[in-house]
Amino acid sequence: QSSPKPPPSPSPLRNSKFFQSNMRILISGGAGFIGSHLVDKLMENEKNEVIVADNYFTGSKDNLKKWIGHPRFELIRHDVTEPLLIEVDQIYHLACPASPIFYKYNPVKTIKTNVIGTLNMLGLAKRVGARILLTSTSEVYGDPLIHPQPESYWGNVNPIGSFIHFIITCVSFSLSYKVDAMIIGVRSCYDEGKRVAETLMFDYHRQHGIEIRIARIFNTYGPRMNIDDGRVVSNFIAQALRGEALTVQKPGTQTRSFCYVSDMVDGLMRLMEGDETGPINIGNPGEFTMVELAETVKELINPSIETKMVENTPDDPRQRKPDITKAKEVLGWEPKVKLREGLPLMEEDFRLRLGVPKK
Ligand code: NAD
Ligand code: UDP
Ligand code: UDP
Repeated sequence: QSSPKPPPSPSPLRNSKFFQSNMRILISGGAGFIGSHLVDKLMENEKNEVIVADNYFTGSKDNLKKWIGHPRFELIRHDVTEPLLIEVDQIYHLACPASPIFYKYNPVKTIKTNVIGTLNMLGLAKRVGARILLTSTSEVYGDPLIHPQPESYWGNVNPIGSFIHFIITCVSFSLSYKVDAMIIGVRSCYDEGKRVAETLMFDYHRQHGIEIRIARIFNTYGPRMNIDDGRVVSNFIAQALRGEALTVQKPGTQTRSFCYVSDMVDGLMRLMEGDETGPINIGNPGEFTMVELAETVKELINPSIETKMVENTPDDPRQRKPDITKAKEVLGWEPKVKLREGLPLMEEDFRLRLGVPKK
């Protein structure tokens, strides 16, 4: 294995006096859930100029409305599967739908976003000498055979999805309008897409000396999640507030570990600023079964609500919990917000958006 090339020098324009004091940061997918919280945090530093490139598939301008018109902020409607020619110092590459219901909606587009989109962001990083961080996922571990999952685990991903073709008719899917969508597909477009994205990151690092950072994000929750995006925490909170039964997918003993979004943003920024390429797990090791999560939401938000067991989707991982030893050691990072503290913060945001005041 050859040693990585030295990083390319930033373009002469970026070396000019004009640019030296400010850091220009691109966030692809910055109109989404995690991206918009990252924008808020980066904008707090007056030396940062923030550019968001987003195609608004799952994100929205609404998430960024407080920054639109700000002199240090720019929003571009852009699909990362197309080339992007701008001058930046850092790239946080988040663009990709994260909720299974959205990434399975058009699996070919999901793969293109992960592969061509990441290639374009790396081409951009190479041209301007920028450092680039990829938000990869715990899904690269697939249905893990090792528990909890350390970064050294290569994963157990089904590359072609389930043999049973699965069709969900999804009614009232979409934020602004109602459609009846046929969703056919499995998780591999996302899992394998992110695995290739990681490979591309390391190949550009080794071959072209690009400065890379890879975060493997575990389930994250918080304000601004799409209300109807199908992920479990947003589903349960919306259901509890609407007075509907909580839909626990069978068997209900499957586990996830939920990280509050402010902890996630802190971890991503530490990774970007630190010296470690990663991959590094960023997530909260607190592990819950879906039955336990439903019970907690019920207790905190609406004790009179029922829970019902419903069919699951194919390829659902049975367990997931990050080993965050590496994040603690090299980033000095660990999550601060417990599930019982984070859920009420999300409840507040969902109440406002759903128009359900607290009694
Ligand atoms: P999100 O869906 O809210 O945000 C993704 C953003 O990317 C949206 O604004 C969307 O419009 C944009 N986007 C999608 N395809 C695009 C394209 N082709 N071109 C330009 N923009 C595009 O999701 P999120 O929860 O904020 O996730 C952000 C990142 O973190 C994603 O890369 C996701 O894979 C990763 N991640 C998230 C979680 C989680 O639990 N939220 C877990 C693991 C990994
Ligand atoms: N690219 C981009 N912005 C840039 C530079 C490159 O979007 O500022 C795209 C480019 O269109 C290409 C990809 O990034 O599709 C990879 O670029 P690279 O220079 O590594 O490869 P090549 O263009 O030689 O295939
Ligand atoms: N899940 C559930 N009820 C729902 C939505 C999801 O029980 O209404 C379960 C799902 O089966 C999975 C877990 O919650 O085991 C997490 O699903 P999510 O889509 O939130 O994220 P991911 O599968 O990507 O971790």
